[in-house]
Amino acid sequence: MFTQSTRHIDSYYARDYAGNAQGAPRERPALAGDCSVDVLVVGAGFSGLHTALRLARAGRRVAVVEASRVAWAASGRNGGQALLGWSCDMAPFERALGREGARELWESMRWAAAEVRELPPRHGFDIDYRPGSLWAAVRRSRVAMLEAARDEAAQKWGYDGLRFIPESEMPGWIGSPRYRAALYDPEAGHLDPFKLALGLAAAIERAGGVIFEQSRVLAWRETPDGYVANTQHGNVRAGTLVLACNAYIDRLDSELAARVLPVGTWQVATRRLEPELARSLLPRNSCVIDNQFVPDYFRLSPDHRLLFGGACTYLGGIPSDIGAAIRPSLERAFPQLRAVEFDYAWGGHIDISIRRTPDVGHERNRYWMQGFSGHGILPTLAAARAVADAILGETRLLSLYERIHNPRFPGGERFAAPLEALGKLWYRLRDVV
Ligand SMILES: Cc1cc2nc3c(=O)[nH]c(=O)nc-3n(C[C@H](O)[C@H](O)[C@H](O)COP(=O)(O)OP(=O)(O)OC[C@H]3O[C@@H](n4cnc5c(N)ncnc54)[C@H](O)[C@@H]3O)c2cc1C
Repeated sequence: MFTQSTRHIDSYYARDYAGNAQGAPRERPALAGDCSVDVLVVGAGFSGLHTALRLARAGRRVAVVEASRVAWAASGRNGGQALLGWSCDMAPFERALGREGARELWESMRWAAAEVRELPPRHGFDIDYRPGSLWAAVRRSRVAMLEAARDEAAQKWGYDGLRFIPESEMPGWIGSPRYRAALYDPEAGHLDPFKLALGLAAAIERAGGVIFEQSRVLAWRETPDGYVANTQHGNVRAGTLVLACNAYIDRLDSELAARVLPVGTWQVATRRLEPELARSLLPRNSCVIDNQFVPDYFRLSPDHRLLFGGACTYLGGIPSDIGAAIRPSLERAFPQLRAVEFDYAWGGHIDISIRRTPDVGHERNRYWMQGFSGHGILPTLAAARAVADAILGETRLLSLYERIHNPRFPGGERFAAPLEALGKLWYRLRDVV
């Protein structure tokens, strides 16, 4: 089981938030005593918060119960890249759902990309959203992959907004000699995930929902009229239970836990760069992810830092010196930033599913969302809509997710991670040879 602290980790986002007008995020009370609601959501990351907001606005009595703090986990500390699509490509969806079903899921992703831009102003908060992302090829042999993806998006999924950037134009997009070409997506963008999560939490409360922090759900059971979940100092009775626990599901539900592997990943924020230097790195302020098997990803913050991430370990740990682990990749991308100071370095955990497909479903009145596999800002929103809609009686989207088969990891609790690490070594080698 992970140790979860009761304070937000020292990330760029948490410090920036506390240092600005908002001040440190308000602490919410822990659950004490018994309460009864229509829907209990376990986990205050994007999956749980988006679901709770939609249900609270539809008039349901909703409680969110969070083991640590709102935005403590992946949702509050990620790379901020709101990219369309999932961690897998569209092939598993097409196999499971046929062309039409896969296209419906893709449309729900485009809906999520628009919703993440429109929701914050609708609820009166700001997430520093900036439009535009680049999917960049490092290796010449992988340039064709970009063109193929553009053509497939247009022909199969009806998405013709992607623009291919040839090598000759790359200096106008990324100030780096490393990239051979890129695919520009105008519907994707980047944002401050910490502000998004906290903004969602406040919106839930305004809509009548309640949020309890520092209240780990230790167990749940089914009863004749729904579910009871127990925390250390209180219990919640609910007609419907939503598990949105990501990499931390652990012993709360051994069946769900068997289908995801917690994987550690990390990133840094440089010192504030001179505005001109920052602009020269990313002249159009797009966010970037490359198409290596283990991708580097980066973007600029509003205060001119380079936020740079990449690398992960299937064995779950996070290096003690994250800066040293990430510096070679950053300097390979931007040699002009050699020895640049890092003001922040932090890590987190993602929930890898075996095929990198989302694992979203239900059994009676218990729903779950997991398996976002490191790419979750838009996928959690799309999944939360499917789950909330189903709870409100519209099951079409959820039924699509439920046709995607997510098997257990082989090897059980003890051997799943080493086996997966070994399997992935082959793909990592293909990034360098
Ligand atoms: C370093 C990093 C960089 C990333 N970069 C990107 C990116 O650029 N773009 C992108 O799309 N995705 C990115 N991701 C992935 C993305 O952040 C996640 O997929 C997404 O935030 C998952 O949201 P979630 O709500 O499912 O999980 P989480 O945000 O992890 O929330 C789950 C919550 O459940 C709580 N919980 C668990 N068990 C219990 C329990 N028993 N009782 C009560 N509460 C419980 C946890 O405390 C946690 O707060 C990144 C992730 C990391 C770690």
